[in-house]
Amino acid sequence: MFLFQKTEDLKVFIKEYRKQHTNAKIGFVPTMGALHEGHLSLMQSSKAENDLTVCSIFVNPTQFNNAEDLKKYPRTLKKDMTLLEQEEAVDVVYAPEVEEMYPEGMTSHISFDLGFLETVLEGEFRPGHFQGVVQVVRKLLQKVEPDRLYMGQKDFQQCMVIQRLIDVEKLSVNLIICPIKREPDGLAMSSRNQLLTPVQRTRSTLLYQCLVSVHTQKGVKPFAQVKKENTQLLKAKGVKVEYLVLADADTLELLPDYDLQRKMIVLIAAYVGPVRLIDNLVLV
Ligand code: AMP
Repeated sequence: MFLFQKTEDLKVFIKEYRKQHTNAKIGFVPTMGALHEGHLSLMQSSKAENDLTVCSIFVNPTQFNNAEDLKKYPRTLKKDMTLLEQEEAVDVVYAPEVEEMYPEGMTSHISFDLGFLETVLEGEFRPGHFQGVVQVVRKLLQKVEPDRLYMGQKDFQQCMVIQRLIDVEKLSVNLIICPIKREPDGLAMSSRNQLLTPVQRTRSTLLYQCLVSVHTQKGVKPFAQVKKENTQLLKAKGVKVEYLVLADADTLELLPDYDLQRKMIVLIAAYVGPVRLIDNLVLV
C-alpha cells in the first residue's frame, strides 16, 4: 500500500500506473478518515470492480459550516493506516495536508449551481456545506482521475450533489452508490459515532427505529401523524429532530404524504447531545 501526502507524488504515480496498465480501471473512495466498516465496504466494492483502488483521507474544512464541528471531528490517521494495511483495503492512500489541497487558500471558491439541492435538508440546515463538498470532490477527481467513484447512500443528498457535478461538468467518472452499513442495533456507522457518550450511543439507535417506523406505517397512517408521533417520542428521549422527511428517492422532491406510485425515501437528521447524526431508508 502506498501513502502519498503530496499531490505531485500521487499524480506521478497515477500517470505511471496508467502508462504501464493501459485499459486498467481505477476506483476511488474519498473519505474524511476515522475509518469504519462503512468506509471499508466502499473500498471492498472498488477492489472487486477495479484494478487499482485509491482512497483519500482528508478532513475538508470548507464543508464544515460550524467551526466547533470541524475542531471536534475525529482525526485518527495512524489508526486508519493500520486498519487499511490489515484489511488490505486499498492500493493507494492520499492523505494531504490542508495547504496541499488548498494552496490558493480557502476563501476564493467559485460557487456551483446546485439548484434546489442547496435549499433543502442538508443544504438548508448546513449552509455552504455542499459547496465545500463539490469543491473538494472536484479537486480530488482532477488529481486521481478515477473511472469509478464510490460513495455511500448514508449521505444520500451528497450522492445527488456529486451526480449533478458529474452531469453538469460532463466528467468521465461513474458514481457507484453503496448501501449503508449499520451496527447490530441499526445505528448507521459514522465517524461521528465515536463522539457519543455511552448514554448517547444507546439513544442514537432511535434514529433507525424512527426510519423503520415510518416504513412500517406506510399505507397505515398519514405521514404527518407518523412524523409527529416519532418526533415527540425522540424528543421525550432527548433526541432533537432537525428534519424527518419523506421524499421521492429519484429526485429528492419532498412529499407531504406517502405516495405508493413513487419510490420513496425517508431521511432524518437529529442531534443526540451535541452530535448531529443523519440516516435514511428507502421504502421498498
Ligand atoms: P465520510 O468519511 O464520512 O466523509 O464518508 C466517506 C464515504 O463513506 C462517503 O461516501 C459516505 O457516504 C460513506 N459512508 C459513511 N458511512 C457509511 C456507512 N455507514 N455505510 C456505507 N457508507 C458510508
